[in-house]
Amino acid sequence: MTPLVYVFEEQARDLLSQTGDVRLVDGVAYGFDDWTVFHAYTEKPYFTPSGFICPCVAIRSDAAGFVDEEKLMAEVRRRVDPDGRPIVVLVTGTGAGGSPSCRALILTENGIAGADTRFVPRRSELFTRNTGLLETSALAEKKVVIVGLGSGGSPIALELARAGIGHFTLIDFDRLELGNISRHVCGVNDLGRYKTLAVRDQLLQKNPFAEVSTMEVNVNQSLSQVEDAVAASDLLIVASDNDQSRFNLNQMSLNNNKVALYGRAITRAAGGDVLRVRPWKGPCYNCIFSSGLIDGREEEMSQKRQALAVLPAYVEEDKINTMIQVGLSSDIAPIANMMTKMALVELSRGIETGMSTVDEDLASDFYVWANRREEAYANWPRMGFKWTHPSILRWYGARVDRDPNCLVCGGHLEQEPTT
Ligand SMILES: [Zn+2]
Repeated sequence: MTPLVYVFEEQARDLLSQTGDVRLVDGVAYGFDDWTVFHAYTEKPYFTPSGFICPCVAIRSDAAGFVDEEKLMAEVRRRVDPDGRPIVVLVTGTGAGGSPSCRALILTENGIAGADTRFVPRRSELFTRNTGLLETSALAEKKVVIVGLGSGGSPIALELARAGIGHFTLIDFDRLELGNISRHVCGVNDLGRYKTLAVRDQLLQKNPFAEVSTMEVNVNQSLSQVEDAVAASDLLIVASDNDQSRFNLNQMSLNNNKVALYGRAITRAAGGDVLRVRPWKGPCYNCIFSSGLIDGREEEMSQKRQALAVLPAYVEEDKINTMIQVGLSSDIAPIANMMTKMALVELSRGIETGMSTVDEDLASDFYVWANRREEAYANWPRMGFKWTHPSILRWYGARVDRDPNCLVCGGHLEQEPTT
């Protein structure tokens, strides 16, 4: 097949906008599938790229002295030692309507071959298929803070990037371990990396123009730093795995009048729950926690760190390992999906979109997901063909009110922010 070269339109534009006599520019390319597909960059890639690295040289078609292809190739060969690899040569120019054009040539020991080129377009074209359901330009301005980038938080982050959310702050101090891979959006390529940085790269793959900042901190030990991020955001998403962080984040959400979403899976992901906190308008995390609604719903334990926090110090390794009981990625997916939908509803509030009817349906602030007839659902009837009784694989909205005696939000009405 004719080799295919992908080029970021934005980078080609930058190259063309440089003034003066721009001669050869050193870039970098990554090749795939026996050097038939290349991703070429004239500047630093937006994210950690994949593929086999090979040299890339770019030139503006109006640069003096290189009109002759043979001359150009001779210059490229003098400049780069390909070490047996192909060299991707990009010749950029201005096409019809002032938009950039790009021609690619692949230089190997056997000679020069022409390649097809494709531009990776600018932001506005990436999300055209969301039109009608979401207001893309408004979402590009929204800022989301996500705490916890594990099996729950990472797919939510990715879905929001797919929807065109433009600004993210990712907070987690964990690194990706082998045991995480089967349930995480990141793979073996990212082993050992901070989950924040690995997920950032995944988000940038979906939306190269998103702004993603990361904080590799423990929320409970970096309160003011995290609160600054929450204060600057439009929405807080909490997918962390411990109550202390949820209580701290609940306080920050109330202090700064920011809507927060909390989600978790119960043991082996037999079910889960999702809470939306609309500060001072509905129940806060503490109202729910003290309401008895989540009594008997043991949280899933997916990390050794969680088990160590509740077990005495002398417990043997085997016991710790048996406490780690996780569900499958497909069991976590409905919970992450619900949180994503609720996030899009919150971020689209006030804008006429396809999310408006979903907003009307989501009247409750607290939802319970029944996933499998185990744990809290062990005695439920089988789903069968009836839809008149409770069954698994459904969401249930609970009527929950703000607790006037809540130690966090009750009796503090006089402190309610006015903005
Ligand atoms: Zn409360």
